[in-house]
Amino acid sequence: MPAEITVVAGGGGFIGGHLVKQLLSEGHRVRAVDQHPVEQWHQVSSEAENLVLDLRLAGACDVALHDARTVYNLAADMGGMGFIETNKALCMLSVLINTHLLESARRLSVDRFFFSSSACVYAADKQLTPHIPPLKESDAYPAEPEDGYGWEKLFSERMCRHFAEDFGLTTRVARYHNVYGPNGTWSGGREKAPAAICRKIAEAKLSGNHEIEIWGDGEQTRSFMYIDDCVQGTRRIMDSTITEPINLGSEEMVTINQLVSTVEEISGITVTRRYDLDAPKGVRGRNSDNTMIREQLGWEPSTALHTGMEHTYRWIFDQVAALERV
Ligand code: NAD
Repeated sequence: MPAEITVVAGGGGFIGGHLVKQLLSEGHRVRAVDQHPVEQWHQVSSEAENLVLDLRLAGACDVALHDARTVYNLAADMGGMGFIETNKALCMLSVLINTHLLESARRLSVDRFFFSSSACVYAADKQLTPHIPPLKESDAYPAEPEDGYGWEKLFSERMCRHFAEDFGLTTRVARYHNVYGPNGTWSGGREKAPAAICRKIAEAKLSGNHEIEIWGDGEQTRSFMYIDDCVQGTRRIMDSTITEPINLGSEEMVTINQLVSTVEEISGITVTRRYDLDAPKGVRGRNSDNTMIREQLGWEPSTALHTGMEHTYRWIFDQVAALERV
């Protein structure tokens, strides 16, 4: 009998591409689905079935989930702060993807459905200063999420809950906190802080002009999770009995200035920092509280920021250098 199909929606994206590879390495039969032509995907695994579909459309979701037993929804129109603060409607339209995927999953009797939520669901008033207490799962309510993107994630989390309660669909939800690593977006306006800083410092190193721009005053705090931890955690949450949204992130909180210093150390150059106080900055402080994942799974992300950023910087440096050679 052929192996059951696992679908990765958004399989052409950063996290989706890594997850497809992991699932294939575990022996799963994988179908990767994305809206972009395959040659534009971050990673393409030839052993997977690779489909190009716009998953905002109900009919496309039926095609994507045909004969599927397991679904990971990582498809969303998203990017870093520069994108989500200026494209709120586009971010909210991703609600069509999750809604139609859930509907198809229910109708086609899928066994398990995973939704990739975000730390952007957390209430803004709990993230007003750089050194705030880490965010625990209950801090999403009373609801005051990131406008646009965060509201879509919070709504889609609730859809997962109610599809489970009302229709018996098994759903799992992880709240990712800032994921970074090789084979992700590093230029073009959708990149996030770790990739943007690696790119700026790689460009500085290659050009000899060591001045870089930083968004905000650099004292805003975040934690960053390396992609391997994200993929491993996603697999663990999917296979668990955890029915409520759960944090998947690192507890190693740093300021953006400290992140820049880390990349300086890795790159071997020192940069002059020019602060753009009017640029999009997001919340003032954010960190993950991993109590629940430690208690429920006996596990949490563990790659040190320096180690993960070393892999990321080397990969982005190679991309920048290759572009400069063209
Ligand atoms: P990504 O942009 O690299 O991947 C998302 C993929 O979804 C893209 O390849 C995109 O083409 C695809 N997609 C968008 N609209 C689609 C559509 N209509 N039909 C089919 N495919 C479509 O982003 P990522 O970093 O890999 O994020 C994956 C998921 O994790 C997203 O849901 C994102 O919101 C969530 N998340 C990511 C982070 C992070 O730091 N990367 C943090 C929190 C949550």
